[in-house]
Amino acid sequence: MDETSPLKGMKALLETIRERANYGLQQIAALEEVRSLRWRCTTCGHVKRFTRPVPKETADDCPKCKATEFVVER
Ligand SMILES: [Zn+2]
Repeated sequence: MDETSPLKGMKALLETIRERANYGLQQIAALEEVRSLRWRCTTCGHVKRFTRPVPKETADDCPKCKATEFVVER
């Protein structure tokens, strides 16, 4: 009787769960990293300011040139 196979299966399952959890945590960290108080329009340089750190999506479109590409202003 092979006693190692069920353990291998369990180990593979747990490793899959760990990988997915790590991936999820990385995604959350990536989202948190791009939150900023200030976003600068890459087209005209206009800086949008916020009272709290917001993700890029919240910066929306530029009020001056209507461009939608923003980068973090530091
Ligand atoms: Zn602009």
